[in-house]
Amino acid sequence: MNNEAQCYLPLSDKTVQCTLCPHNCILKEGKSGICRVRVNQRGKLVTEVNGFVSAINFDPIEKKPLFHFYPGSTILSIGTYGCNLRCFFCQNCTISQTAARPELPHSFYSPEQIIQIALNRPDNIGIAFTYNEPIVWYEYMYDIARLAKKAGLKTVMVTNGYINKKPLDKLLEFMDAFSVDLKAFSEEFYTKVTSSKLEPVKETLKRISLAGKHLEVVNLVIPELNDDEVSFAAMAKWISSELGRDTVFHILRYYPNYKLSTEATPISLICRLKSLAEKELNYVYSGNINSESNDTLCSHCGNILISRHSYVVSLTGIDTEGKCNKCGNYFLKKT
Ligand code: SF4
Ligand code: SF4
Repeated sequence: MNNEAQCYLPLSDKTVQCTLCPHNCILKEGKSGICRVRVNQRGKLVTEVNGFVSAINFDPIEKKPLFHFYPGSTILSIGTYGCNLRCFFCQNCTISQTAARPELPHSFYSPEQIIQIALNRPDNIGIAFTYNEPIVWYEYMYDIARLAKKAGLKTVMVTNGYINKKPLDKLLEFMDAFSVDLKAFSEEFYTKVTSSKLEPVKETLKRISLAGKHLEVVNLVIPELNDDEVSFAAMAKWISSELGRDTVFHILRYYPNYKLSTEATPISLICRLKSLAEKELNYVYSGNINSESNDTLCSHCGNILISRHSYVVSLTGIDTEGKCNKCGNYFLKKT
């Protein structure tokens, strides 16, 4: 495989600038970027995670989480190493906060091999780029997504959304659905807790929505860090006005991990924020809660369209055209 990066500028003295994400790292020869997996080798920017797979599994699509994209289906899910953010609370820190060192558990797969694995299982709908941040393995994701579309497979990106406009626009052509983390609605939170910025993530969300791709937004609620109700309500209002009232919104419960030992989010807080979000949005779900029930109700007549209990999903109220079988309201669009 060619490991040269797609998005960078050569500067003087074999220094390069990576233009993939808004960090726009300037790298001297031999140095790696903030993501740890893109390296300046003799004046050429290379990716060290092409084919370097940390995890590969068939997952329920609901695990991404995506609730309105082929509900109840299975999707081949892959990840590598590295991330362009440094969230204190990272739930995947063992693969996201490290370089792709050879002694770490991994398997090597070419894009063609990934496509073959995806096609070998008859009930699999496609490929999800997930687990660690796929932006930092952009080239590998791009090559697989391009082949996947040719093979008739669906493509899903699970991301923090911290990507520059040009590489995002190029990727949009080959991606069907996105699950994007909107971590908070405050620049201060993004800077202090994730080492990134909020505005580029908002821009990514707007571009995905404008391109007409399936989009679901995720927010992990962390006590005392991003649970301010005024800020949360402003986030829900922004999603509704900029992305649409039907945008699916997942509110997830946080558990202590990585550098953060704050106690898990109280379930009562999740319930309160869910009610706030429901004033602005038609489809709000809670996640990371044991024994949760997360049915989808028709926004017109209240009929149960999809019943969910954990990953057990049943499409009880949807006809073959994706409409509510009681009132005929159009619900699931085919991509
Ligand atoms: S992708 Fe990595 S190297 Fe490139 S700008 Fe972002 S953090 Fe820096
Ligand atoms: S963006 Fe996701 S994978 Fe990256 S550090 Fe934050 S929580 Fe971890």
